[in-house]
Amino acid sequence: MEIDLFEHEQQIYDGALDYADKVRNGKFYDFEEYLMLTKEYGKLLKQLRRATRIADRTTINLYESNLDLTDKVNYDMLTGIYNRRYLEDGLKRVINTLVRSGGGLLSVLMLDVDHFKKYNDTYGHCMGDACLKVVASVLTESLTRDDDFVARYGGEEFAAILPNTDENGARKVADKMLENMRQRNIPHEKNDAAKCVTFSIGFTTGNVGFSQNGTDYLKRADDALYISKQSGRNKCTYINFKEENTCIALQ
Ligand code: GH3
Ligand code: MG
Ligand code: MG
Repeated sequence: MEIDLFEHEQQIYDGALDYADKVRNGKFYDFEEYLMLTKEYGKLLKQLRRATRIADRTTINLYESNLDLTDKVNYDMLTGIYNRRYLEDGLKRVINTLVRSGGGLLSVLMLDVDHFKKYNDTYGHCMGDACLKVVASVLTESLTRDDDFVARYGGEEFAAILPNTDENGARKVADKMLENMRQRNIPHEKNDAAKCVTFSIGFTTGNVGFSQNGTDYLKRADDALYISKQSGRNKCTYINFKEENTCIALQ
């Protein structure tokens, strides 16, 4: 059964119309009746104000928790930088923007902390977490342009997106990242060559076309990262992004 929340108020309103009709037709005029109706009207106004306040508060709360959620889904809980979800969406946006403006250069970097398993094994998982936070801030502080961004791809892997940046520009950023990490000089005795925490970088640069997608850029950068790992770590390797490596249309 449906409950009519305003049944009582509806009755008062119907009664008031009825009463007004009678007064108009000169049947009678009862002051007490008029006073009762005015008081009911006052109660209604009070309820309405209260309901409006509640509705306003609810709307504000919903808006704020929505903002909060939107924020949370895009950020990595540990490091506070963007997460993989944001990276993939952001990369798609960057490519779409470049395509719409007639094309442009895009550089994508993939980074992976060297011998990080050994770091955890030696210094403990908490120190490992703290180390990842340092890596995240090193990467962030190495960027200079507003449109560039870094994200935690997952585990001890990160990615950086540099729109409108050629190979030389991307190499400068990569070298700066490596140098800034070196300067932090975080001890890592099991990282044989450097004895401090280092990471390896792979990057690619392409001229963005509409048949390309972000996954292809990440894949090329990852191929380059693999070469850095194979050839001694703590360095960056470049692979040119080639049109024939793309196969999936931009969504
Ligand atoms: P490589 O130089 O070849 O990259 O070696 P690696 O040891 O860094 O690579 P591997 O993939 O063998 O190990 C990655 C380690 O990263 C293992 C995993 O426990 C650690 N790791 C991933 N995510 C986290 C995290 O959130 N916190 C901590 N402390 N460790 C993490
Ligand atoms: Mg890894
Ligand atoms: Mg690693």
